[in-house]
Amino acid sequence: MALADEGLRVVVLEASAELGGRARSWTHVPTGDVVDIGPHIVHSEYTNFLGFLGRLGTRHLIHWQPKKLITLASHPPTVLRHRPLPPPLSLLPDLARAPGLGLRDLWSNNAPTWRAMKFGEEDVPELDQMSAAEYLKAQGVTQAMTDWFWRFATMAVMNVPLEKCSTAALLRVHAQLIGRRGIHFGFPAVGLSELYVEQSQRAIRAAGGDVLRNARAVSLSQNAVRLEDGREFAARVCVCALPPAELEALIPGVAETRAFEPSPYVSTYLWLDRRITDEKFWALLWKPERLYYDFYDLSRIRAGWERRPSVLACNLIYSHRAADMDDVALAHAALREAAEFAPLARQARIVHSDVHRIPMAIACPHPGSEARRPRTRTRVPGLMLAGDWTRTRLPSSMEGAVRSGLLAAEVVLAELGLNRRLAQAPKPTDGLAGLVRRATQAYRRAGPVLAFRTSDTEESSMHALLTKVSPSITDMIRADHTRVLATFHRYKAGTSAATKQALVASICLALEVHAQAEEEIFYPAMSSVDSSLVARLIPEHDKMRTLIGAVRGMDAAAAEYDTTVMELMREVMHHVADEETVLLPQAERVLGERVAELGAKFMKRRLQLMAPHAGELTRNKARALPKTNLLVIAGAFIGAALLLQRRRRA
Ligand SMILES: Cc1cc2nc3c(=O)[nH]c(=O)nc-3n(C[C@H](O)[C@H](O)[C@H](O)COP(=O)(O)OP(=O)(O)OC[C@H]3O[C@@H](n4cnc5c(N)ncnc54)[C@H](O)[C@@H]3O)c2cc1C
Repeated sequence: MALADEGLRVVVLEASAELGGRARSWTHVPTGDVVDIGPHIVHSEYTNFLGFLGRLGTRHLIHWQPKKLITLASHPPTVLRHRPLPPPLSLLPDLARAPGLGLRDLWSNNAPTWRAMKFGEEDVPELDQMSAAEYLKAQGVTQAMTDWFWRFATMAVMNVPLEKCSTAALLRVHAQLIGRRGIHFGFPAVGLSELYVEQSQRAIRAAGGDVLRNARAVSLSQNAVRLEDGREFAARVCVCALPPAELEALIPGVAETRAFEPSPYVSTYLWLDRRITDEKFWALLWKPERLYYDFYDLSRIRAGWERRPSVLACNLIYSHRAADMDDVALAHAALREAAEFAPLARQARIVHSDVHRIPMAIACPHPGSEARRPRTRTRVPGLMLAGDWTRTRLPSSMEGAVRSGLLAAEVVLAELGLNRRLAQAPKPTDGLAGLVRRATQAYRRAGPVLAFRTSDTEESSMHALLTKVSPSITDMIRADHTRVLATFHRYKAGTSAATKQALVASICLALEVHAQAEEEIFYPAMSSVDSSLVARLIPEHDKMRTLIGAVRGMDAAAAEYDTTVMELMREVMHHVADEETVLLPQAERVLGERVAELGAKFMKRRLQLMAPHAGELTRNKARALPKTNLLVIAGAFIGAALLLQRRRRA
């Protein structure tokens, strides 16, 4: 579609008689209802998929569930909602109420959560080696947390058991789910094919291209594709958007396809004689004998079905365990398991059922497979790869499939000399999760910042080195903000006077150095862009300096010490908000490449300003920061959980 929109003549060759692949729908003859291959779900971060529907004019056909993330069939049910807390804390209040999870279980989840917040693509080679089960065990996650949360989440989202899932693949998804504000699910209100098949076919044909069904490609030469029936199509470039086994059959050895075992599904549809629930979508928690995980009542989802009795759709994921079951047994098992959440199902009668066996729903994200996902460009000139399993930085999904297509379109256009940005990257995380990720990025790019001295002769080579390794000035400023706010969070009214004093000394020094480096390097660069904002920020620094002077002159045991520190913290937060919401984004837009050069200068100046205080800094850290950052976050988690438990008891 994207290529047709750019005016290229596109011919789509589809082996099957129907378009839509693993995300298609058809009519169930006995009822006349349109059913999908299996129920599909989307979420609010499917930017590429939703953009595709937007282009086709069908985006409004997604039925959203904005007020909650998911209903889990615990007893009583656990409804996970995003509360107005910064990610990743927003789901914690509901998790803290979940039956079957105690504080120790929640606490044990801090390590993987912290790792997910720091996660970036640079972590994939290391984390991909290990199964998620091994990883969680090594991190000390309790059995209850593993069974209640991770086994269910891995099966439902990654479509494999925990023991068979790459830690990299799982933590990447976890990072998105806990790190994006207000993420929520949506369901197609029509059959999947009705969302895009006819519309995209029409658009491709209108641009002079064609869409051929029953057109299986069997061989590929440099400039032509040959079909099973002998027809040949010449093409300048070819995008193969095939699943791994089909790609291997067509072009052996072009990708490491053997790393991708299929995850089979059984999707079951039940037409019942009555309404059994008002819920659109719920999920059953893991247990060893569990068959189906996700359930949808289409009578609550499909447009115009509101008055009908329940029509249930459910997925039996990684369905090897049901290989010997016949359709009748599968249908009755689906109704029995539906009753674990909706007891009225026990009285319901199945009027019709339809069981779909799908040999491959997605390629399993086994350990080692993330690093083997193929890139768009291949070693064969003019041949690109696409498909949900290629290297999209997303799990195999409709979003991944669309993003892979857009990435391929970008490469095709680049080959033709046209530079276009079509694919949307997954959005960065928000809130605390975003801060942690940004600080991690800045730290990894710069390496640990040690105080060191440079001689004059080393000056220019050091500058060149710093320019290469230093993060942008905007990243450095954000990382400074993160560090100082994290230190503020450690300041508690009940802490000993000595610890308070050490924390405040660290904070004050960091603020002074940061403010001076900003005034010398960043503000002059920005004053030509937004002189009025810069003029407002300098007095904020002065106010901070006055408060720093005041707090330094006080006894930490004095009554007014806490209020002065809090006043300083408010000033800093106000200043951080001004910079992060207006000035830094503006700098990134306007300064372009200069942000790296200014970053090097900023880093060097910070080091110079910090150097005379190195001893003091180490002493303060030893007195005030005996625990790692992990515990800062862990403390926040557990603090919130305790608060909630107390409230629940009240
Ligand atoms: C039951 C089920 C439930 C799912 N649930 C979800 C969900 O909730 N959310 C979500 O986002 N994703 C879900 N998925 C995954 C999603 O459907 C896939 O990730 C996505 O459809 C993959 O698209 P694709 O274009 O990469 O591959 P496909 O859809 O497999 O397309 C490949 C096409 O290539 C054709 N082909 C194969 N060989 C040849 C050849 N030699 N010549 C020509 N054509 C050929 C095939 O016929 C097929 O049409 C689910 C999948 C299933 C099956």
